[in-house]
Amino acid sequence: MNKVNLKRIDKKGQKEMENALKEREEQLHYQARLLDNVSDAVISTDMSFRIKSWNRAAAQLYGWSVEEAKEKKMNEVVQTFYPKTTREEVLKEFHENGEWKGEVIQKNKAGDNINVLSSVAALRDSTGTLIGAVAVNRDISQRKQAEEALKESELRHRILAESSHDLIWEIDTEGNFIYLNSEAKNIYGYEPEEMIGKNFAEFMAPDSLVPTMHEFQRALQFGEGSIHFESQVIHKEGKVVLLDSHTFVSRDKAGNICSIMGTAQDITERKRTEAELLKLTQRFQISTKAAKVGIWDWDIKKDTLIWDDVMFTLYGLQKEQFRENQKSWLEHIHLDDLENLLQKVELALQGVKEFDTEFRIVWPDGTVRFIKALATVKYDQDGKATRMVGTNWDFTKEKEAEQQKIKAYQLELKNKELEQFAYMASHDLQEPLRTVRGFVGLLERRFQNKLDVEAKELLNYVSQAADRMDKLIKGLLQYSRIGSNKMLTALDCNVLLSKILDDLNAQISESDASFEIAPLPVINGYKTELRALFQNLISNAVKFRKPAQRPIIQISAQKRDTYWEFCVSDNGIGIAPSFQEQIFVIFQRLHPIDVYEGTGLGLAHCQKIVELHGGKIWVKSQPGQGSSFYFTIPE
Ligand code: ADP
Repeated sequence: MNKVNLKRIDKKGQKEMENALKEREEQLHYQARLLDNVSDAVISTDMSFRIKSWNRAAAQLYGWSVEEAKEKKMNEVVQTFYPKTTREEVLKEFHENGEWKGEVIQKNKAGDNINVLSSVAALRDSTGTLIGAVAVNRDISQRKQAEEALKESELRHRILAESSHDLIWEIDTEGNFIYLNSEAKNIYGYEPEEMIGKNFAEFMAPDSLVPTMHEFQRALQFGEGSIHFESQVIHKEGKVVLLDSHTFVSRDKAGNICSIMGTAQDITERKRTEAELLKLTQRFQISTKAAKVGIWDWDIKKDTLIWDDVMFTLYGLQKEQFRENQKSWLEHIHLDDLENLLQKVELALQGVKEFDTEFRIVWPDGTVRFIKALATVKYDQDGKATRMVGTNWDFTKEKEAEQQKIKAYQLELKNKELEQFAYMASHDLQEPLRTVRGFVGLLERRFQNKLDVEAKELLNYVSQAADRMDKLIKGLLQYSRIGSNKMLTALDCNVLLSKILDDLNAQISESDASFEIAPLPVINGYKTELRALFQNLISNAVKFRKPAQRPIIQISAQKRDTYWEFCVSDNGIGIAPSFQEQIFVIFQRLHPIDVYEGTGLGLAHCQKIVELHGGKIWVKSQPGQGSSFYFTIPE
């Protein structure tokens, strides 16, 4: 066309024409240069696709500099593929309409593929003659990748949603279902397609409608994150299904709602079983509130173990420390009880024996607690166990009391034996002792004038030793009888103390001891024994005073958890730590008889009395710095 036109005009005209064309071309390329600051690649070519201009963005996108690209043919620099059409189609459209727009894949200098959105327009001169093309190309690789990723993640979510055993739904802000997974069929009895587009309220049970709408409104107004509630819906067949739902509302930065989605679980069966369980536990005469009964629900097929809030308290766990499966529960069972417990679970699942057992659990801080557990097992039509729902409650207190009782009983047995032995021994020993003392008396009387001083002194030693043996035997007898006639009474320790101080009057005034006695409680105890306990401790505190120092004795009581802790302390000679245990052993003394007299039975008595009450006794002391004797008496 161009040449034909040129032939028709004269030489002068031809020259003018050429100049005009050149000017026009230059103008166009000048404009293209102006486009250097544009972020899209702008490329202009002549009719034979020779590159005439190549802006900075083009250099960046394709990796060819302006100098490298210019005057080269387009396909020498950038190879272009048309994923959705053909080159011929594109050229055809370009010639017909003077433009083409679409997605292309191009190779850059490094040979990488880039996704490009290309807009090509025809360049014409003033006569309308086609002289080239200009392309505006935008890199859409990132957008493409993001789109791909989104598609992939949508697909993944959809697969997840479809394989979930929970109902998963999405509604619009009007409450119409946009999406439901296949679980809808199980819960509502309808195919998801039958429900999509319908309002969720149509499927609500009348009783549940108002509270659920309220929750829905709440979610719309303030909701961000998850809202949890229970509701009732009506199944296609008319039955009521109880749902445990979580709703998630997500919003954009401006606070507009992007989506309202949720999950729901059918808890009809669980609720029914819980009610059955409550009855069951009541049968075991447990006041559920007082005993803090935890409820658990184990879906055996899915191995999901759901705990109510009480269960977490019972196991001393935070919610995030429990992974909601059987393994996570077993991790907290005392190792010695694990095998037996697993056996019990197995027998229950096989339907051989009802699950009714006891085991120990270990808290994260190492505390051991005793748990009683009951459960019922649900089976499918084939007789396979599908669910196990049960209760746990902590009976550590009862167990400890029981263990205490057993210990007390064993102690009593031991004491009885000892008592019998001590009784026999002291009884049998008293007889020869009496004989020894009788003969010593006889010797003294009959041979008074015949014995010399040394013989008399020796006889005196024998007599003293016999007296001491008598004391020891009587003490032993007393020890063996502690608790044999015990009578539990309410005792005001203040009254008890003042009587004891009266009794010890002589010893107290001789030593000039002073007492600081704090207000003491009324306790349940054995009167005679407690009296002996205080008496022994006080008289030791007076006896083991420092020479030439006035004894100061303090007596006090502190209320601890479930017991009273008494303290009798003095400013006496003190006891070295290495002896502090042995002093409670029968006949153990730390001093020769002529320095501090005694039988070594007092603290053994004290220990026996305290243990008789279910308490403990110990001492804190340093030599020369006084001693503090502590003992506990349960409330
Ligand atoms: P006894 O007083 O008859 O020696 P105990 O069984 O009462 O026997 O005490 C055993 C030992 O414990 C005493 O011999 C003494 O060494 C030490 N002891 C007991 N009470 C005190 C005290 N308050 N201060 C220092 N030592 C004590």
